[in-house]
Amino acid sequence: MQGLSFFVGEEVAKKTLEVNYGPWKQEEYILISLPEGIVIAGDDGPGDVWSISTRAGTMLAVYTLLEDFLGVHWFWPGPYGEHIPYKPDASIPYLNIRNKPQFMIRSVSIGYSSYHTASFREETKKWLRRNRMGWTVSAVFGHSWSSVFTEQDFQQHPDWFALVNGKRQRPQVCSTHPAVIDRMVEHVLKGKYDIMNISPADGGGFCQCDENTKSETHKKLGIPSCTSLDIPGLLSYDGKNPAISDRIFTYANEVARRVREKNPAKGLRNTRIHFLQQSASEN
Ligand SMILES: [Zn+2]
Repeated sequence: MQGLSFFVGEEVAKKTLEVNYGPWKQEEYILISLPEGIVIAGDDGPGDVWSISTRAGTMLAVYTLLEDFLGVHWFWPGPYGEHIPYKPDASIPYLNIRNKPQFMIRSVSIGYSSYHTASFREETKKWLRRNRMGWTVSAVFGHSWSSVFTEQDFQQHPDWFALVNGKRQRPQVCSTHPAVIDRMVEHVLKGKYDIMNISPADGGGFCQCDENTKSETHKKLGIPSCTSLDIPGLLSYDGKNPAISDRIFTYANEVARRVREKNPAKGLRNTRIHFLQQSASEN
């Protein structure tokens, strides 16, 4: 057969394939071969398609076709980074692809924008899109325990906070305390972003509560202490402080599980800090 036709867009896809693909998942796309050509469509939102915050499933399909099946690459921004192989006999295998990005946020920083020229910025926007970057959900990153748990909370509920050398102190909290988990679930559900931060405060000072020193609430409800969740004897990079990955991931998973029950669309984000350097043993 001479040449191929491209059937682009949801309406055309519906007509040619007689399948209604909507409602799409976020940034989902299809690449489907027909005897006459290829159907290309996807989840497209309003806005500038070159902006990584715009949902552009059809564009993802196009760049998947070009990069994965025709060997076109964009190694860096600008014409010099573009590689288009010369192949008069190029062929495309039979495609039956329905896919969506494995990561909701796909982003790289390419240095301080104050050093960039206007043309570099424009080329970079295109380069990011051609490399299938996207950031179509709203997210807040960074630490959050110090702002979520206030001084007033400390006065009213000292047992929510980290027990360090026998004394309760801010800003870290006791991550197995049920009221702490309740508060973080509420923080995520009420937060104005799609993905909310649930990270410990910066620095050390993590809770040292054990089975004897844990709070009365822990004892009453039979909840494990913070240190009982750590791997015995496993220290973090400094050789002094315990590696707390397991307790922090236990906490994060519990918050995630309860958030998902109420609102599966909400996400949460946990900062990886140095006391978490060792991978969690379970979970
Ligand atoms: Zn604790």
